[in-house]
Amino acid sequence: MQDLRGRTVDYLRLSVTDLCNYRCLYCMGEDGVCKKDHSQILALEELAEIGRAAVACGVRKIRLTGGEPLVRRGILDLCRMLRKLEGLKELTLTTNGAALPAMAAALKAAGVDRLNVSLDTLQPEKFRALTRLGELQQTLSGLAAAEAAGFTGTKINTVLLGGINDDEIADLAALTREKDLCLRFIELMPLGECANWPRERFLSADAVLQALPQLERIGGDGVAELYRIPGWRGTVGLIRPMSRCFCAACSRIRVTADGKLKPCLHSDQEIPLRGLRGAELEAAIRRGAAAKPAGHRLAAGHSSEAVRTMNEIGG
Ligand code: SAM
Ligand code: SF4
Repeated sequence: MQDLRGRTVDYLRLSVTDLCNYRCLYCMGEDGVCKKDHSQILALEELAEIGRAAVACGVRKIRLTGGEPLVRRGILDLCRMLRKLEGLKELTLTTNGAALPAMAAALKAAGVDRLNVSLDTLQPEKFRALTRLGELQQTLSGLAAAEAAGFTGTKINTVLLGGINDDEIADLAALTREKDLCLRFIELMPLGECANWPRERFLSADAVLQALPQLERIGGDGVAELYRIPGWRGTVGLIRPMSRCFCAACSRIRVTADGKLKPCLHSDQEIPLRGLRGAELEAAIRRGAAAKPAGHRLAAGHSSEAVRTMNEIGG
């Protein structure tokens, strides 16, 4: 699919739930979200039909996300259904890792190609405070379980939080010394819970280059700048939605757990997909992809126009 500005759109982020077993400070309120009635959330068959239609429209990569996708009942069935889609090159999933010790092998068997695991700190106390409900050891065990299950090229997502985890840049990057991991530092975006956080929390990814002057640029991977420390096995990525807007290279569309297609994370534009099937659904997806806005204006000090929080949109 192409949008009206000539960008190829071939990547779908499909949110399977807005619920989560964590309450990360920057993402969700302390009380979580109001549990929606089952009927408000897409059923597995609806999610699979959206995946099918998206692939028929030219999507080649689907990332399952949320909320926490591993708390969604039937997630393994959904993975199996999506994996059967001819034309789908990559099925990936973003998770906080808490359920990976129990589920990594089953996810691999269900056809998930790659995992992104979110990890913002290596300090147990800080981890507890940041996630409100999480235990660091669980995510570390999850990473080990993913490796044991045969996952390779696992990416770790670390949101840069000024005054909170910028003292750990070197420690986090050291995870790539012995392992074939890509540790991606992501600039915090002001939306939802953190929209009005103080400026010092929003760090440019330049902080990583300053903390690790030995990093050597080795290219790019989608929207990430890729680096390596000479002699280390893994890589370090920088994702800079704030300091270097990558909207011109954006290839993604998102579908929320209640069935709204979002052409852009930061726009309030939503195209309802519920109730549509077959050719009608494909036409709606094409319309949504075509309508992608030129880009966001966060760096210019404008706030995100997204009316939902990150766990609702699907990060
Ligand atoms: N629960 C899963 C997880 O945490 O990996 C998947 C959903 S979560 C919303 C997806 C990713 O979005 C996580 O890596 C999280 O750190 C990131 N995220 C959430 N809010 C963000 C924000 N305001 N700016 C940048 N990244 C954010
Ligand atoms: Fe849950 Fe992921 Fe949001 Fe943390 S970032 S509260 S793990 S959805």
